[in-house]
Order: sequence, then C-alpha cells, then structure tokens
Amino acid sequence: MKEKSFFGKHKILTIVVGIVAILVLIGIGLFNNPPDALVEWVFKFAMDQSLGKNTFDDDALYAITTGTGGPLAEAGRAGPQTVVIAGDEVLVFDAGPGSTRQFTLSGISVGSVDALFLTHFHSDHIGDVGELMLQRWTSEGAAVPLPVYGPPGIDTVIEGFKHAYTLDKGYRVAHHGEEAMPSSGFGAEVHAFNLGSDLMSSETVYQNGDVEVIAFNVDHMPVFPAVGYRVNYKERGLVITGDTVYTESLVHHSMKADLLISEALNHEYSQMISDASTEKDNNLSIVAKDIKTYHIRPDEVGIVARDADVSYLLVTHILPPIPAKILKNGFLRDTKEIYKGDVYLANDGTMIKMPVGSDEITVHELLR
Ligand SMILES: [Zn+2]
Ligand SMILES: [Zn+2]
Repeated sequence: MKEKSFFGKHKILTIVVGIVAILVLIGIGLFNNPPDALVEWVFKFAMDQSLGKNTFDDDALYAITTGTGGPLAEAGRAGPQTVVIAGDEVLVFDAGPGSTRQFTLSGISVGSVDALFLTHFHSDHIGDVGELMLQRWTSEGAAVPLPVYGPPGIDTVIEGFKHAYTLDKGYRVAHHGEEAMPSSGFGAEVHAFNLGSDLMSSETVYQNGDVEVIAFNVDHMPVFPAVGYRVNYKERGLVITGDTVYTESLVHHSMKADLLISEALNHEYSQMISDASTEKDNNLSIVAKDIKTYHIRPDEVGIVARDADVSYLLVTHILPPIPAKILKNGFLRDTKEIYKGDVYLANDGTMIKMPVGSDEITVHELLR
C-alpha cells in the first residue's frame, strides 16, 4: 500500500496554515500599501469618532477632566482642566498646558464652548488659554469672542494672550476668509468678578437657564486672588476646588454636592522627590519642598469630602507626578481612611455622569 505524504496525513492542518499564510500576506500588503477606499474609510471613521460622538445627550450633569496634571510634567497628564456639560452648556474650568488637545480627543466639540472660568493665574492653569481661544474660533467660525470669567488680574492675562495671537488671527482671516473665520469671533471677552479678601465670600458669576456657577474664595497664599467654583444644574451639583490649602470655605461651599473635584498634593511623595533631587543641578528639590505650603493634602481632601457630605470624590491636579503605576493606590491611602464614600483618581478623559432625576453617578474613561 502506498504510504501517505506528510501533507496527505495532515490535510486540515495544511489548509489552515495555508489560509493563515495567505491572510498574513494580504494583511502585510494592505498595511504597506492600503487601497484608497480603505484609507478613505479610516479617515471617515476617525472623523466620526472625534467630531460626532454623542456622549453627552442625556439630561445630566457631566464633568470631564481633560487635564489632570500639575505644574510638573507627567506622561499622559495635561495641565489642569475640567469641562462641565449641563444641558446645552459647555463650561470649561482652567486651561492648563496641553489641555485643549485632550479636550478635543475626548470627543467634545471645541467650537461648542460657552465660557471659560479661571481659578487663578499660575501658568499651569492658563498655559492653554490662547490655544482654547483660537481653536474655538477657528473650528466653527464663532462670531463672538470666548467669554472668560475670573477674579481681578484676568484682564492682564487675556490681553496678553490676545496680543500674542494677533498675528495668527491675521493669517487665518486672510487665508480662510471672513465668512469661515469672522474677525469678530477672535479672542476673548473678560468678565471679571471681585470676591474681596474675606475667605468665606462667594457670588453667582454665571447663570443661564438651569445652570448656575458660583465662585468662592479659596486659600492659595501667597497667590491671591484664587477661587473655586460650584456648578448647580437642576438638582445636581459639583465643586471644583482650584488650588488651595484646607479651608472652611471649601467645606462650606461643597456642602451636599454630588461631586467634589479636588486637587491634592501628596506630601510624602513630594518629600521623596525633593530628597531624590537634592544633588541635581536644578530647582526641583526647592520647588517640590515649597509647593507643600499651598496645596491640600490627601487626608485633608478626605476631611472636606466627609464634612461636606459629598457623594463622590474625584481627585485631580495630581502632585507630584506619579512615576509608576504601582504608586497610584498609595496616593489616596490617607484620603480613603477618612472619607468612606467613592474616591477616584482622575485620568485625562475621565467622565463623571450625573443624570437628572436620580442619585446615580457613573464613571467612564473617554481616552482609554
Ligand atoms: Zn496648579
Ligand atoms: Zn496654583
């Protein structure tokens, strides 16, 4: 009897290997030289994903942290920014370096921004004001400038950004025309408010339909003024601390909020960075030591959340940068010992959704 060959004996295996080899060759071919139709489809898919995402259609109060870092660079974290979406309103709080890109990548239309609110004028909170202002104008051809709210000093900051972007404004109008980019929409319009020096003072600085924004003083001395914000929408509310040490004002203005979005500086980690940098020929050791005097500690964040009886705590403006994932849990260890509610360490693209008519609070990651 004639003996079967190897391929005769392993017919199915041979067919499977053959099909896999053909698919791999087709895959390599497509990868190296994709046909035009495939390229077009990929671009269309990407545009639909970035521009048409309807993540915010439900009647809810949304908060998206589009920048969760502090003044020191950390991979994956832009400078501080939180976007609040309530009904038709898109309100932006601070504009840290790189935040406009994270904003856009999160699927929010930058042309839809209704107002920007600044907490104070440290560079990590204002570095992207010019970029946000310009992108909002160019993306949908805004006819009026971006309204910007903030405490005294805001005129100086906004005038500076407008001045720096004046040449670019000229290029855009000349290149794309007044119809696509009306000159009237360039820049920002300042809405300054003055809460005085009383640490407990606050004031409604923005009201539109069901949306109310209250500014309150915080303590970021020697940086003055510095404010936090509370946003109320229908029966739901959230608080953004800005930069501050522990202060009664924070507890008072956060009372019964659904969500507290707080900055935090871990003193132990900061001390370790300071110690590890003493031999380095730069200012890192001094900065890591000094910043401890004007930021709130994780245990104090827990006290605010507990005493204000908030439902959910989101920690952002992470200081110092966390160099390894293994250290993430330790960052909030002291917070969790004090506050027994839900605590979440924010990422760029973390979205908290609070539907109207319920107590529900859900967390979603838009960039992961
Ligand atoms: Zn800061
Ligand atoms: Zn600051």
